[in-house]
Amino acid sequence: MIRRVLRWPDECLTQVAQPACVDGQTLALAVDMLETMYDAGGRGLAAPQIGVMARVFVMDAAWKSGDPVPEVFINPEILWRSPQMALGAEGCLSIPDVVADVKRHSEVVLQWQLADGSTQAQKLTGFRAICAQHEIDHLNGIVTLDHLSPDARAAAIAGLT
Ligand SMILES: [Zn+2]
Repeated sequence: MIRRVLRWPDECLTQVAQPACVDGQTLALAVDMLETMYDAGGRGLAAPQIGVMARVFVMDAAWKSGDPVPEVFINPEILWRSPQMALGAEGCLSIPDVVADVKRHSEVVLQWQLADGSTQAQKLTGFRAICAQHEIDHLNGIVTLDHLSPDARAAAIAGLT
C-alpha cells in the first residue's frame, strides 16, 4: 500500500526512531515502504518519513538506471566509517525542491537484520554508502538541512514552499 510521505518539519522527521521487531508487521511495513519509494520516484525511504518511528529503511540504488534491486535494512548500525569524505548534492522525498550539499563518509560498514532475523554486515560504497547514511540520519531525527551551515540552511528553508 502506498503511504503518504511526510514533509519536513513534521515532528516524525525530527525524532529518534525505536528499534524494530523482525516480525510480520515490520515486513509488511517494508513492502509498503518500497512501494511508496518507487511511487515517489526515490532511491531510499526511512520509516519515519511515513510516520512510523521504527528503525527500518529501504533502498534501491539501481532501479533508476536498470533492473530494480530492492533492499530492506532493519535496525541498521554503522560499524565503521571511512576517513575519506565526499561532498554530494542530496535530495529528500520529505524536502522536495531542496537539494543540499552534504559531506558524508565515502564508505561505511553497515550491520543490519534481515527478514529472517539474522544479522548481516557489509561494506557499502558509492551511492549505497551515501544513501544509507542519509536514511540512518532519518532514523535519528536528522535531515539534510541539519548538515548545512546556518546561512545555507536559512536560505534553503526560505526557498521551501
Ligand atoms: Zn530523506
